Amino acid sequence: MTATAKQFDAIIIGAGQAGPSLAGRLAQAGRKVAIVERKLFGGTCVNTGCTPTKTLIASAYVAQKARTASAYGIKVGDPVQADMKAVKARKDSIITTSRNNLESWLRNMENCAVFTGHARFESPTEIRVGEDLLTAPQIFLNVGGRASIPNMPGVKDVPFLTNTTILDMDTLPAHLAVVGGSYVGIEFAQAFRRFGSEVTIIEMGPRLAKHEDEDVSAAIKTILEKEGINIRLNAECIELHSAPGGVAVHVNCDEDSAPTIATHVLLAVGRIPNTSDLGLEKAGVAVDKRGYIEVDDQLRTNVPGIWAMGDCNGKGAFTHTAYNDFEIVVANLLENDPRRVSDRITTYGLFMDPPLGRVGLTESEVRQSGKPALIGTRPMTRVNRAVEKGESDGFMKILVDAENKQILGASILGVGGDESIHCITDIMYARAPYTTIQRAVHIHPTVAELIPTVLGDLKPLS
Ligand SMILES: Cc1cc2nc3c(=O)[nH]c(=O)nc-3n(C[C@H](O)[C@H](O)[C@H](O)COP(=O)(O)OP(=O)(O)OC[C@H]3O[C@@H](n4cnc5c(N)ncnc54)[C@H](O)[C@@H]3O)c2cc1C
Repeated sequence: MTATAKQFDAIIIGAGQAGPSLAGRLAQAGRKVAIVERKLFGGTCVNTGCTPTKTLIASAYVAQKARTASAYGIKVGDPVQADMKAVKARKDSIITTSRNNLESWLRNMENCAVFTGHARFESPTEIRVGEDLLTAPQIFLNVGGRASIPNMPGVKDVPFLTNTTILDMDTLPAHLAVVGGSYVGIEFAQAFRRFGSEVTIIEMGPRLAKHEDEDVSAAIKTILEKEGINIRLNAECIELHSAPGGVAVHVNCDEDSAPTIATHVLLAVGRIPNTSDLGLEKAGVAVDKRGYIEVDDQLRTNVPGIWAMGDCNGKGAFTHTAYNDFEIVVANLLENDPRRVSDRITTYGLFMDPPLGRVGLTESEVRQSGKPALIGTRPMTRVNRAVEKGESDGFMKILVDAENKQILGASILGVGGDESIHCITDIMYARAPYTTIQRAVHIHPTVAELIPTVLGDLKPLS
């Protein structure tokens, strides 16, 4: 160990969705903590992920409501236009407040020292941040990830946007081509279409949101197409070329087919972990072949005294999974509570409008498992609240274990789906049978009040 090293009980690398909360708990427990952030406090979620996208989606929702106002008997000016400078200013104000609050909370925290700069291991107990050398017996990695740039032909020759750079735009793209038809791509595509851009989603696979059931993917496609979004599936030979006024995106392998000419291209084809420049080899920390840090069920790496939380461990790709990683580490270290990642039930939202709320297994996963199961479905056209709101696209689907009556999974694609899914999530954590929900009295008129009805109409999964 170097003589000049600054001594701590714990070093946390990354002020994303797990690190700051862990700093708070360790500092509160009297540990001397260092937290290192190389860029923006709050990480992806606050600065370039959840918060800015949901802020844009909220503006886009207002635009859409204004556009369809006459159907509600309301008159608004025509045409509806997005003032992208104001849209961006609203987004910037919300994320800046969140980021600044987090940074000042950390900087004012007793027992916590904040370092800004890129952190790298020098040994299993030493971290270099610029001129500073820090040492601690416990090191927690919360370094997150970034957009993956695919190695597709032409990508080096044309300008493109990522989830980070598109957020800097304060003008409206005339035609936005979104390469990648998964969660991030779908959310941006719908928002920009509602702002007034022509939008084309280009997806290599045969359907959008490929991790969902086919009926969910099909319903998402119908909803987006109804709003005028062009969708090119099975785009197996994507190539980018400069074109007058923008970028030509070749979609088909057939060389004669006409390319999509876009003014802007957003690449939304997945994420990679920020682990290649951490000096992990100096600490001997193992990563898998995609660069994710390998951890056990309690988030310990292969090196004693080093943990990895959040997106960088590949066990989750959401803010709630990163935060749950923090809870698991704290429970094991400070509370003598052996919480585990494997206790977690998969759950997430796709925040298009209407949103998709998901929990547990999909229908296709239940079928693959071979478990005897029951299924209940209901279109949102038969949910009063959705009809009253004029937002009746989508459907709900719930799968139940036919033997023990526990819920296996659910998809709610529809207004309020991101909230009402939690009725099901909670009962799954309680390991209670679905009949418990049937006896609960839900508020009328809500989307959640139909969940007992769906459960009352279960049929064997054929
Ligand atoms: C467009 C988009 C929308 C999303 N929407 C949602 C959503 O609605 N809901 C949801 O749950 N999730 C969403 N996510 C995912 C969510 O943002 C991430 O899962 C979450 O931010 C992961 O948190 P984390 O703490 O693991 O990493 P991050 O938030 O990425 O934080 C990691 C931090 O570590 C810092 N860092 C990295 N390397 C170093 C280093 N060597 N030294 C010092 N600091 C370092 C980074 O600067 C960063 O601040 C979205 C993601 C994207 C891209």
